[in-house]
Amino acid sequence: MHNVVIIGSGPAGLTAAIYAARANLSPLLIEGWQSGGQLTTTTDVENYPGFANGIMGPELMKNMRAQAERFGTEFLIGDVTSVALETRPFAIAIDGERTVHAKTLIIATGASAIPIGLKNEARLTGHGVSTCATCDGFFFKGKELLVVGGGDSAIEEAIFLTKFATRVSVVHRRDKLRASKIVQDRAMHNEKIAFIWNSVVEDILGTDVVTGARLKNVVTGKLTDLPCAGIFIAIGHRPNTALFAGRLEMDEAGYIQTRDGAATNIPGVFAAGDVQDSTYRQAITAAGSGCMAAIDAERFLETTGHNL
Ligand code: NAP
Repeated sequence: MHNVVIIGSGPAGLTAAIYAARANLSPLLIEGWQSGGQLTTTTDVENYPGFANGIMGPELMKNMRAQAERFGTEFLIGDVTSVALETRPFAIAIDGERTVHAKTLIIATGASAIPIGLKNEARLTGHGVSTCATCDGFFFKGKELLVVGGGDSAIEEAIFLTKFATRVSVVHRRDKLRASKIVQDRAMHNEKIAFIWNSVVEDILGTDVVTGARLKNVVTGKLTDLPCAGIFIAIGHRPNTALFAGRLEMDEAGYIQTRDGAATNIPGVFAAGDVQDSTYRQAITAAGSGCMAAIDAERFLETTGHNL
């Protein structure tokens, strides 16, 4: 029986663990098979306070994990396959094999990359199609690449990929970027980056590996085949909340709704990070909400006298 079980090992989950561990609550953190969350797939993090010269995403997550471990967080690797929230204590099944019980639960399962939804996209994932420039950029030395999307992720990935590629074309469905001004300016001044406006990827070409993309201009309807060796898709994320559908209150896009801090509609269940935040979605806001969730869980346990 655990005082606090945390699901998720991104900035929200690990910050919740640091706070819960320092409150002597001996938290158990279930970290999933891909530990560290979305920051492990990013490069330089320049806006996380405390790192004047920036820090690499994977290194930041390694440090957070070590900090949580130092105060006595117990880690369990595995995927949560079901959660019983109707009974107390809550029962959390891992990989369908093992069940742990919790007096309070902090959900910090984050969000996942959204695919375009093309048949060839799924087939060629890992063979030229990627959602992680940090992970796969190195494989494309001297090649031409394509990045899909116009947000911060897409433009940062495009800039990063110019370290390897000869040319990076950013395909965006509008004629204006959504990315922040500073990132836009950097990309506009990078001579290896080209922009293909008002266009979407209609199909991904290639038998065994990606050889190109079929683009459609959404204004003229014109189709163009563009040769490239890799396609990086960065069109946003969706919250990982399928496990809680029908039980926790969510908004239309599936983000968990929190109130009074990190509380959900079930007493003793809290949510932190991107899983409950469709607006800010930053590492620092995720970490902040992880802190809130741990403090709320601690107060909940105090109020109930741990009698659950
Ligand atoms: P985002 O801001 O939601 O941008 C998604 C982009 O993909 C948009 O340009 C969108 O076009 C486009 N898009 C969406 N669906 C599409 C589709 N089906 N086909 C083609 N294009 C599509 O997502 P993000 O870039 O992943 O960023 C998420 C959040 O993280 C943001 O708040 C961002 O500021 C933050 N972030 C921050 C940093 C940083 O500060 N270092 C780095 C990365 C991300 P429209 O513009 O037309 O909607």
